[in-house]
Amino acid sequence: MSGPASGLNKPRHSMSRHTTGEGSPLVPERFRFIRPTLPPLSRVLALYERAYADGLVTNGGLVRRFEDAVAERLGVKHCVAVSSCTCGLALVFKALDIRGEVILPSLTFFATGHALLWNGLKPVFADCDPATWTLDPADVESRITRRTAAILAVHLYGNPCDTEPLEGIARRHGIKLVFDAAHAFGSRHNGRPVGGFGDAEVFSLSPTKLLVAGEGGLVTTNDAVLANRLRAGRNYGDLGNYDPELLGLNARMTEYSAALGLAGLEILDQKVCRYNELAARYTRQLATLRGLTFQKIRAGDVSTFKDYSIVVDARAFGIGRDELARRLLEENIETKKYFHPPLHELKLYRRFHGRGRAGLPNTGRISTGVLSLPIYDALPEETIDAVALAIRSATH
Ligand SMILES: *Cc1c(COP(=O)(O)O)cnc(C)c1O
Repeated sequence: MSGPASGLNKPRHSMSRHTTGEGSPLVPERFRFIRPTLPPLSRVLALYERAYADGLVTNGGLVRRFEDAVAERLGVKHCVAVSSCTCGLALVFKALDIRGEVILPSLTFFATGHALLWNGLKPVFADCDPATWTLDPADVESRITRRTAAILAVHLYGNPCDTEPLEGIARRHGIKLVFDAAHAFGSRHNGRPVGGFGDAEVFSLSPTKLLVAGEGGLVTTNDAVLANRLRAGRNYGDLGNYDPELLGLNARMTEYSAALGLAGLEILDQKVCRYNELAARYTRQLATLRGLTFQKIRAGDVSTFKDYSIVVDARAFGIGRDELARRLLEENIETKKYFHPPLHELKLYRRFHGRGRAGLPNTGRISTGVLSLPIYDALPEETIDAVALAIRSATH
């Protein structure tokens, strides 16, 4: 996160010179990898002013208003706002009273797995689809045992999961299906907004996502009993009679976060549109390069492109992912490796994927080659072009 705040630099104009390591870099100064566009402060304060004046900085009306607006927008019956996606996921498994094993992808952020470990649940990693990079339903089904209690799928970078087969598997085996929708506020699957699939979906509103509330999360569900237990769960488990229904947390959302979120809803469509334009621009410029693959978005689906990632095949591309990242950094282009290493290779999770488990070849290949490029709505087209040019120039 180095570089001045004004770092939405115009890239150097003479695009013809692109030797790495000498001359000036393609992008003259380092810009931040992510820079959330926030709604106008005046709009946020207009919403917040009343709550503040009334002294209701938490448990007031804005959170409820935010929840109602989200439920309506996503076409789902219930929305429960929480303090983060991580807490929301943990509370969903607690509120559903799930025990045993839960199948999840390994190609995800570790908070997905943490929600299970906090509930004493055993994570069972399944592989992802080689084209869409989301959970592969066939591999999920092959890992179901008598102990399997739920599936936790992830709309990776906002790309909607293959929800129908997953819902079919959950129904046939009588298990729950939950989505980590941290990346996917604004995504659509077969014309329907993400938010209404499975038993519950959980969004994140932290600043690296498209809808930002400072910190925050949203659980959406059509299950009234679950919604009620979640309302208890975020409030120490208490629904008001001072005799907790379940072992809850304090995971309430503050009124200020709700004001930010409400104002953020007003600019969300525009943002999703812009992320999609920038993603398409990257793909257009990189598609002809040998050794790069891109995440497939199914016809009829909309991804938020919370992240835009490519997978580098070192043999075909000429250099590996890490070398490419190093060369881009020389050009002042910061990248990330979302998500490398995959969960099953991290300290906290290794012991859950021991011998006797079928391998995760697609996860391994993707995570070894994955490189996430800068994408956010304030990024100028010329910067996208400069990044693409730097990638094209990296191998010769
Ligand atoms: C960001 C993220 C989370 C955690 O969200 P918080 O709101 O920060 O708790 C969970 N899962 C995935 C896939 C994420 O990217």
